[in-house]
Amino acid sequence: MSELRFRVVETAFRKRPAHVEIPSERPSEYFARYVFNKEKMFKYLPGGVYAKLVDVIENNVPLDSGIADEVAAGMKRWAVEMGATHYTHWFHPLTEGTAEKHDAFVEPDGKGGMIEEFTGKLLVQQEPDASSFPNGGIRNTFETRGYSAWDPSSPAFIVDDTLCIPTVFIAYTGESLDYKAPLLKALRAVNKAATDVCHYFYPEVKKVVAYLGWEQEYFLVDEGLYAARPDLLMTGRTLTGHDSAKNQQLEDHYFGAIPPRVGAFMKDLEIEALKLGIPVKTRHNEVAPNQFELAPVFEECNLAVDHNMLIMALMRKIARNHGFRVLLHEKPFKGINGSGKHNNWSLGTDTGVLLMAPGKTSEENLCFIVFIVNTLMAVYRHNGLLKASISSATNAHRLGANEAPPAIISSFLGTQVSQMLNLIEESEKDELVSMDGKHGMKLDIPQIPELLIDNTDRNRTSPFAFTGNRFEFRAVGSEANCASAMIALNTAVAEQLAEFKVEVDALMEKGEERVSALLEVVRRYLKICKPIRFDGNGYSEEWKAEAARRGLDCETSVPLIFDNYLSKASVEMFERMAVMTRKELEARNEVKWETYTKKIQIESRVLGDLVMNHIIPVATEYQSKLLDNVWKMQALFTAGKASELSAKDLELIEEIAHHTAFVKEHVDKMVEARKEANRVACEREKAIAYHDRIVPMMEEIRYHIDKLELVVDDQMWTLPKYRELLFIR
Ligand code: ADP
Ligand code: MG
Repeated sequence: MSELRFRVVETAFRKRPAHVEIPSERPSEYFARYVFNKEKMFKYLPGGVYAKLVDVIENNVPLDSGIADEVAAGMKRWAVEMGATHYTHWFHPLTEGTAEKHDAFVEPDGKGGMIEEFTGKLLVQQEPDASSFPNGGIRNTFETRGYSAWDPSSPAFIVDDTLCIPTVFIAYTGESLDYKAPLLKALRAVNKAATDVCHYFYPEVKKVVAYLGWEQEYFLVDEGLYAARPDLLMTGRTLTGHDSAKNQQLEDHYFGAIPPRVGAFMKDLEIEALKLGIPVKTRHNEVAPNQFELAPVFEECNLAVDHNMLIMALMRKIARNHGFRVLLHEKPFKGINGSGKHNNWSLGTDTGVLLMAPGKTSEENLCFIVFIVNTLMAVYRHNGLLKASISSATNAHRLGANEAPPAIISSFLGTQVSQMLNLIEESEKDELVSMDGKHGMKLDIPQIPELLIDNTDRNRTSPFAFTGNRFEFRAVGSEANCASAMIALNTAVAEQLAEFKVEVDALMEKGEERVSALLEVVRRYLKICKPIRFDGNGYSEEWKAEAARRGLDCETSVPLIFDNYLSKASVEMFERMAVMTRKELEARNEVKWETYTKKIQIESRVLGDLVMNHIIPVATEYQSKLLDNVWKMQALFTAGKASELSAKDLELIEEIAHHTAFVKEHVDKMVEARKEANRVACEREKAIAYHDRIVPMMEEIRYHIDKLELVVDDQMWTLPKYRELLFIR
């Protein structure tokens, strides 16, 4: 082992489980301590202001700007009491992370002193420099006016000494420059459309909420080993590295005992998450070694998205306190399962009905069927867009590999729901209904037992699976902002439900009975969206051919997948649902293509550096040792004996020469290919060039590096190996 590697590995092994300060209080006592939730609002705001603010939060009533000053004052009083000295507008620009610019509460008082200041104006709106965030050309760099605006529906919280105020981020010309603004619009659209459809069943419903329960997968790596891997440090994934002899074949990691040092990290993370009001609940080992998962209880979608962004930041911070680095990349290790972030999604009414759950009465079940079928229709019509919503340079490594859903969106329903839908589809008009005195017609199909989908009826290979009372969108990447998937999904479902209502109303206006009208449209939809339903093995080659025959989007090139955002159907949908305009979609795609290019560009550069600074020097050093040996053999033995004894060395020398020549030559070629690609002006074309030319080159180069890793003396190899990265905890 090289000196450096020896030292880092040794230190990693010597690390003791980190200490966790377990609070003396119970979680229920410290839950949401750092959140300006309703309880604190009630305490710190005047009664009238409190009532108005709750109305804004719960009923989407527009904010009365008259109360902003009083809300700001109350918020500041609470924050200062909690020890905060600064505040920030916290937003989600079109990068992966969040952005914040901290300002101190203190302002000069004009008399030579300072006072703590925080006005309604500062709470409601600020002007960060929009030009320095990705904006796809909406903002020219000299035009820096963009603003962040308070989102009262997600509560403010304190991190360290700073009061964080969730905000949307908008260009001053009105276009959104972030994830939150379109997400809020998508949620508004689905609320409206779903509430309207609910009225066929429950006239008292005033609001429909979209729920999201995410499951965050991640890897932990010792920080010393991490620091000795320039690729992990710079790109979040290993660009080289041969499989270790043991990886996940024995499947002994999943649900296995949690290693103590990891356990300490998890405990610490959970305590901090609970204090921030994130209702974390589940933790376990994942399939791959050193891979873990964390899931909270589901929440309203906008809040859940904020909480996921917050937890990712928290994980990065707390991992460091425990001598770990957290890897959120979708595929940090080749040949080992990657990380996803299942997005469990459903709709529920303000009256407590879960619309994706089968009910007890025929009426409830009819409602359930209507929502399931409309969701299937939405996913069918926009399957390409949904795929685009989860696509990125990093998630591309995970999808389509033999572990995660393929790069084709389909939906699994389980036997019972499938059977019921088939029954409806195959029935003739009014065959499934009977008259009941009060309500007119009623659906006459067998009960759907509750908890119908148990673990035996799950399909892990499906990207969009029904799991009993929700759909699980599994294709979302571990590093992604869930908002991207949630914007596409909620908008698509909103559009679909709105169209459904128009069709049902038209039939009812012609005199058709409600149940009969609902069933007629459902029956028609079932025939149309059939291609999206797939219960078989999503990993199989046959499915790819079958999906293509069914007309599903089978594109695998990420830059081309992004085109789905600009298809006629997508633009119409986003514009009609008032979620995004064509101009916004175009600008956002520019950002997507540009980000794609930059990610690959960085990886390609890092790989080039690794080759020149680590791989070739080490390989040639070893090679020269071997040569030395051969030389000495020839000096000591007769020619015949010497060549017999050096045969193996000579083979190795040639092998090393072959691989080093290949990597050197191809790194040079890759540099040339990059230069060419960089000259392409159009972002889309540039991303395509990076995808088509650079990505395959990196793969080829890696193949030869990994071969070298196998033959070069372990004592010399400078980069920590997979067995060390994956098995030291
Ligand atoms: P599994 O690994 O079996 O999918 P987990 O317990 O890890 O299950 O995660 C399931 C996630 O789904 C949790 O966040 C849970 O709160 C969430 N969830 C459960 N019911 C719903 C629902 N109706 N709508 C949205 N999310 C839900
Ligand atoms: Mg799950």
